[in-house]
Order: sequence, then C-alpha cells, then structure tokens
Amino acid sequence: MTADMNRQILLTSRPAGPPGLDNFKLVQSPVPQPHEGEVLMRTRYLSLDPYMRGRMSAAKSYAKPVEVGEPMVGATVGEIVASRNAKFAIGDIVLGYGGWQDYALSSGIGLRKLDPAIAPVTTALGVLGMPGMTAYAGLLEIGRPKPGETVAVAAASGAVGSVVGQIAKIKGCRAVGIAGGPDKCCYVVEDLGFDACIDHRAADFARQLEAVCPAGIDVYFENVGGAVQQAVWPRLNDFARVPVCGLIAQYNASSPMPGPDMFSVLRKRLTLRGFIVTDFAAKEGDFLREAGDWLRSGRLKYREDVVEGLENAAVAFLGLLQGTNFGKLLVKVR
Ligand code: NDP
Repeated sequence: MTADMNRQILLTSRPAGPPGLDNFKLVQSPVPQPHEGEVLMRTRYLSLDPYMRGRMSAAKSYAKPVEVGEPMVGATVGEIVASRNAKFAIGDIVLGYGGWQDYALSSGIGLRKLDPAIAPVTTALGVLGMPGMTAYAGLLEIGRPKPGETVAVAAASGAVGSVVGQIAKIKGCRAVGIAGGPDKCCYVVEDLGFDACIDHRAADFARQLEAVCPAGIDVYFENVGGAVQQAVWPRLNDFARVPVCGLIAQYNASSPMPGPDMFSVLRKRLTLRGFIVTDFAAKEGDFLREAGDWLRSGRLKYREDVVEGLENAAVAFLGLLQGTNFGKLLVKVR
C-alpha cells in the first residue's frame, strides 16, 4: 500500500513525579496492513490531553494504563488509506483512537466519520469533541448553573475551561476564569466574554479572587485542585456545586496534597461529585446539536494550539502539564 514507515512514540518507563523526555522513545516499523474487517488510518491530528499523565502510571484508575513498550494512546483525526471494512472507504476522515503514531489499524468500532464541510475536523478533538462534551455535561448535569449565579473555573483558556465559562454565560451566569498569566487572562475576558479572569500565579491571587466574586461562588468547576482549590474553597456559597473534573496541579505529586476542608462540605451542604465524561454518553447527541449551533452562531469560540510533527509530541505533552499550551493542544502529525 505504501513504502512509508510508521513512526510511533512508545512509553519506555513510568515516571515517579513529573514525567520527562526519557519516559518516551520514537521508533519506526513497517506500516501495518489491515486484515478482513479492519481499516488503516493515517493520522492527521493527534490530541494531547492531561489524562495521558494518568495512563503513564500503573496506579489504579478508571482506565487501564499504557504498558511499558507500547505506543502512547490518544484520540486522533485520521484519513482512511486502506479498507477491508465495507462501512469505510479510502479517503474518509474519521475520529478514532489511533494513538501517538503515523498509522493505526481499527476494526471500525468507535470510529466516527467527520464531514469537513460542517466544521474544521480538528474541532472533533476539542470544542466539539471530548473536552467540549466534558464541559457541557459536567457543568449542566452536575453544576446545574442558574441565571445570576457565579461560576468559577480554572484552566479557563484551555479546552474544557473555555467551554465551561462560555456555556455559563449562555445560561445567564457570571463567569469567572482563573488562568496562568496575563495573556491567557486577557483572551478569556476579551475574546471568550468571561466577566473576569485572574492569574493564579499572582502573589495576591486569593485577594483578587475575593474581589471578582463579591457574591461568592455558586459553581466551582474543578479542573486543577492544589493551591487554586484552596483559595476557592472559602469563597463557596451555601449549597454550592463542585463538578470535580480534573486535578492537573496534582497529577505529578508523589505524596498527597492538602485537601479541601470537609467541615465546610457539611456546614454549607455542598454537593461535590467527581465524573468521567463517558458517564454522560447518553447526552452526546444534545451536546453536538447545542454546541454545534452555538459554534455556528458565534456564541461559542475556541482556540487551538497546534504543534507541528509527531516527533514534537512528548515535549508538547510535558508543556501541557505546566501550562505552556494556550488552547486545545493538538499535534499536526502530517
Ligand atoms: P487544558 O487545555 O486546560 O491544558 C491544561 C492547563 O492546565 C494548562 O494549560 C494550565 O493552564 C493548567 N495547569 C497546569 N498545571 C496547573 C497548576 N499547577 N495549577 C493550575 N493550573 C494548571 O487541558 P484540558 O482542558 O484538556 O483539561 C482541563 C482539566 O480537565 C484537566 O484536569 C483534565 O484532566 C480534566 N479533564 C477531565 C475529564 C473527565 O472526564 N473528568 C475529561 C477531560 C479533561 P494555565 O496556564 O491557565 O494554568
């Protein structure tokens, strides 16, 4: 089919604490050929996401880890270049789970055909994909924001947080973002339309948070944990809801970090609920319809941070864990 080689990025060891480039290795092997019922996808875009840090670890989790010596996993947008499956033709563009490699085989199960005429295909990895769905389901199903309430979210310029705040605005709430640095904060307010955004690295972060949330916080969409969580916690109102989506500030910790004050969970009758986006699979149709409409009408905006070349995936992923990405992080593999 092709004389090309398949470049793959393998996990070569499990990190203790922050991962480094030595946990990954780029290798090449012949391009695999599809068996009966299979398709071969050539990766165009690879999504890099914080959950991949969890897959590098053997600790018990909701999903099984990547084995040492195996390619890193990840969602991809790819083109079908060989097909022995009647449902897919050469040239189809599909959303799949091809991983950190140029080519991947699939049985076709879980592949979704994309129509580039409807939206740029990269949106299937971001605003109209898993991160967008996470924001939509977590905010609306668990956060249950009411008009006039204050919704706070960290990693506010990122794939999930940017959508959380924009939906909060669509629902008539006050949206307060928390982000790393003045450029991200400016984007969150000026381009995305949040009411305020503050820099979690500022020395007086807790005081600024109090100033921009004069009526307290009714929904705290938890994306980061750590020091941000500790500053937010005293600002929660009675009956506040906290969709616990992610704790990126703690993903590299090798010992437990100080947690929230559980006494206030009791006294304020707080609702705290962790979730994994797949818990809400039944809502995906609603999400695609509503978010698609918002995107077309300009009420929902997005930003992508596209890194060129599979060989740069590991460096980009390490940056994601430190906030060097600005927007949904993607790798343009080809
Ligand atoms: P982003 O595109 O927002 O990128 C990650 C961002 O996290 C960085 O850019 C940085 O932004 C921020 N960050 C990193 N370290 C810290 C820190 N120590 N303190 C505060 N902020 C930090 O990623 P996503 O939108 O894809 O993911 C956001 C969160 O949602 C993650 O925790 C992720 O694990 C979680 N998630 C959960 C899902 C679920 O099903 N429960 C599904 C998808 C995502 P900044 O520079 O602004 O600080």
